[in-house]
Amino acid sequence: MTRLLEVRGLSRSFGALKAVDDNTFHVDEGEVVSIIGPNGSGKTTTINLLSGELAPDSGSIRFRGEDVAGRSPDAMARRGVRRTFQNGRVFGNATVAENVLLGQVPLARAATPLPALRGIPVLRWVALIAEAALATVGTPGLRREKREADERVTAQLQRFSTRLLPRREHPAWTLSYANRRRTEIARALASAPGLLLLDEPTAGMNTAETKEVVRQLLDLKAEGQTMVIVEHKLELVMSVSDRVIVMDGGRVIADGPPAAVQNDDRVIEAYLGK
Ligand code: ADP
Repeated sequence: MTRLLEVRGLSRSFGALKAVDDNTFHVDEGEVVSIIGPNGSGKTTTINLLSGELAPDSGSIRFRGEDVAGRSPDAMARRGVRRTFQNGRVFGNATVAENVLLGQVPLARAATPLPALRGIPVLRWVALIAEAALATVGTPGLRREKREADERVTAQLQRFSTRLLPRREHPAWTLSYANRRRTEIARALASAPGLLLLDEPTAGMNTAETKEVVRQLLDLKAEGQTMVIVEHKLELVMSVSDRVIVMDGGRVIADGPPAAVQNDDRVIEAYLGK
């Protein structure tokens, strides 16, 4: 198996609090790894370190052999590390298709002068939307790029969730909560990421919606999509994961196949038995 992600001694504190404390783990190509643990155990901080949202205090993160610790979210996205957020982040006034299109933008935007603006946080998303819009006017080359991008959006929606297809041109704010979250995942998938990081993909979803997401995650897994999933719902974790990493108080306290982790005494004490 090819090692995709190699994390060593990863640490990040907030003041005196060690949110992520000297953790070492890896993710192989095609693996689905879940991170579980009680609230406040450092799961989201770990995802934020892997996606570049946070820089580690110490430790190394190697992605495809390259040390990427402390790189920006943009730099990580360009390398193929994509994520979704705990509370779901979509652009409400943009359509489903535009949201997914934005997920493809880092692939195409190198040709525009706008990337300079992206260094300024407030302008970052304005620049991204403008870049996507730029592809709708202008030269035949840009028009072709737009057409190809549209085709990729359709393929992406077909691949991930046919529920989104009839809503392709609907503004995201008109969607149900579950469909907004699906849109976010479709956007993260739009550039065929090497590593997909999902922070509680089913938070706030009912049982039927959760089951559908489980099916979709299993489909992605069957296609060989590498994923790291932070999740509370153990049924989901146990059914989709090749491996489960258990965190408690910032430390990784167990790392192994779902069945083994479920029977680990420290895990039962820290998490499962509560
Ligand atoms: P989990 O995802 O496992 O619930 P988090 O990674 O969100 O845990 O948080 C780990 C610890 O770090 C918690 O005690 C949390 O309060 C703290 N923490 C997380 N982010 C910040 C931040 N930006 N500033 C200060 N403390 C933070």
